[in-house]
Amino acid sequence: MKHKHHDLIAAFDGEHLLADLDTLGAIGLHPGAGLQRMAYGAADLEGRAWVLAQMQALGMDAAIDAAGNVVGRYAGREDLPAIALGSHTDSVPGGGKFDGALGVLGALACIRTLRETGDRLRHPLLVIDFAAEEATTSASPMGSLSFIGRLDAAALEGPAWQERSTRALLERNGFDIAAMVANRPPAPLAAFLELHIEQGEHLAARAIPIGVVEGIVGIRRYYVTFLGQANHAGTTGMARRRDALVMAAPFISAVREVAIRHAIVGTIGRLEVHPGAPNVIPGRVTLDLEIRGMDNAVLDTAERELASLAAANGGDFARGNRKEPVPAAPPLMDAIERACQAVGLASTRMPSGAGHDAMNMAALCPYAMIFVPSQDGISHAPEEFTHAHDCINGGRVLFATLLDLDESL
Ligand SMILES: [Zn+2]
Repeated sequence: MKHKHHDLIAAFDGEHLLADLDTLGAIGLHPGAGLQRMAYGAADLEGRAWVLAQMQALGMDAAIDAAGNVVGRYAGREDLPAIALGSHTDSVPGGGKFDGALGVLGALACIRTLRETGDRLRHPLLVIDFAAEEATTSASPMGSLSFIGRLDAAALEGPAWQERSTRALLERNGFDIAAMVANRPPAPLAAFLELHIEQGEHLAARAIPIGVVEGIVGIRRYYVTFLGQANHAGTTGMARRRDALVMAAPFISAVREVAIRHAIVGTIGRLEVHPGAPNVIPGRVTLDLEIRGMDNAVLDTAERELASLAAANGGDFARGNRKEPVPAAPPLMDAIERACQAVGLASTRMPSGAGHDAMNMAALCPYAMIFVPSQDGISHAPEEFTHAHDCINGGRVLFATLLDLDESL
């Protein structure tokens, strides 16, 4: 890393980043009930207006697009595709001030450093505050889907928080759905970088300050049914029973073992016992299972094992939705690791178990993500917390990565 980069990284204003987190974090904050900045609600729109004003104050060419994304452009020295940075500022009901906001405000802190040192990079820079990332609408992450030109109007018919449908929510807040669907990215992009809190306990438990995200995990869902025979719970002797819940029990335990053996995660999040009465032996059990992992070959193996375990216990194993893993770009992961060395921070590679706007941006350009620790792995809750030094570390690594990519791309 060049001497000039060291000076620039040293000029990164971490205190300003922390102050911005507090200012934005007060918009839509309900003491005792966390952040209430749900997509397209009044507090969300107020937060977006504040982000827009910050971009304009930094000399960016900024506007809010048809989907509510705040998009700011900072000119470069050369006529090159832009490097994009960003995340989201909407929240879940009762969220924390770090989820999403850190990535947007960290990106603004990068621009501020360049502006205050009077520097321009070779590449133009795009900072994006994506709308409706959280699953409070039926089409989320919706702002980034619209940004990449892949928002499907049919997905807007599903429910949104406090509304009959996402369409109703949008129309009530004055959004033009046809324009959202017609939205297209402004120009080709060289790369997308997203700084985000981990929302898990991997980094905090190991005291590692930076996670280099290898990709966003694939998700596979299955519907498993065990058919027994419903019967009288008082008059049917134990030897004569075909209890569907007892058939399902070994399978439920085996899901955990299979997940651990393959270093993936597996969850049965829904279970129905029919007919569901205390005096009736369960005749039918249905359960929803999902597994998540980065590697399709590993997921294939786990899936085969789970299917045969279900069959061995008399169950029917049906395949449901499947989302492919979205790997990050290795050259960008390398750049983040060089940036960590330049800043003097340890890092580790890890998958993201949660979805992010970056998985949509992957359709446009190479992407990578930088994770910082979440205290106790808590997120989507008012107790969500990331230490000040971790927020600043993340911002510095984002900036150092940007400087590296400006030369290497
Ligand atoms: Zn987020």
